[in-house]
Amino acid sequence: MSNPLFHINYSPLKNTLLVALLWLGFFSECAANRVANEWALVKEPAKSGASAQSIGTYNAGCLSGAVALPENGPGYQLMRLSRKRYYGHPVLKQFIENLGLQSKQHQLGVLLIGDLGQPRGGPTLTGHRSHQTGLDVDIWFLLSHQAANRTLRFNERETWNAPSVVDSQSDAIDFSQWTLKNEKVLELAARMPEVDRIFVNPSIKRQLCSDKTGHDWLRKIRPWWKHDDHFHVRLKCPATNQFCQAQEPLPAGDGCDASLDWWFSAEAKTPAKKPAPEKAPVLPVLCEKVLRE
Ligand SMILES: [Zn+2]
Repeated sequence: MSNPLFHINYSPLKNTLLVALLWLGFFSECAANRVANEWALVKEPAKSGASAQSIGTYNAGCLSGAVALPENGPGYQLMRLSRKRYYGHPVLKQFIENLGLQSKQHQLGVLLIGDLGQPRGGPTLTGHRSHQTGLDVDIWFLLSHQAANRTLRFNERETWNAPSVVDSQSDAIDFSQWTLKNEKVLELAARMPEVDRIFVNPSIKRQLCSDKTGHDWLRKIRPWWKHDDHFHVRLKCPATNQFCQAQEPLPAGDGCDASLDWWFSAEAKTPAKKPAPEKAPVLPVLCEKVLRE
């Protein structure tokens, strides 16, 4: 029996093309890992002249003049020390220390800080596409009472996990994990002028909208996939960093509208059939200098 489709699908030309495409995918993945590996292996920040410089975009960039966030400070403690992703632009360090202080003053509990960036920023081998210019930080939703009374041990910082604050079946907020204190922390962060935007799970954005529609700070709170156990703060490019590339501006309004409904649609919830192979991000030429310094 002759089936024309059969012949088309298995023609030698098609097979060759398919194999070539698979190899191409494999090599671009390898290239992405090789690039990320160079940045991951650097142990010290690059020195910058007068001021620290974030260079490029949040997803393809680097940083010179990074500073390390101290392990502990008033109102915060740093987690996952072994990852060594506690470097950032000095304005990011200042932001975290400031938010910790404010959380302490408002008695909101201790902030547990996840990843900032690598000593010179750049792509990471695991975990993030962004966090490359030292202006992004992940902060856990878990406001621990234990951490409020003592300094966490190294092991606790490695093994503790932040529980999800969203029920994955129903998309509802889990009020055994979520309190008004979490809302207050988000509000304090969003009100800081240096903050560009904050990514949270769509269910959290919906919760904030149901309580606070019309509050201007909600505009900075953006729904994004996952982010149900931590929120991700992104700072604006510092004014003096001329090579730092800003993200497109936020849409007008507080985002408590139809654009939020989309996140609960079947389309938003259906993962792409096969993720495209990771391509190595193309970093600005200046980053080569930062890496080789
Ligand atoms: Zn993040």
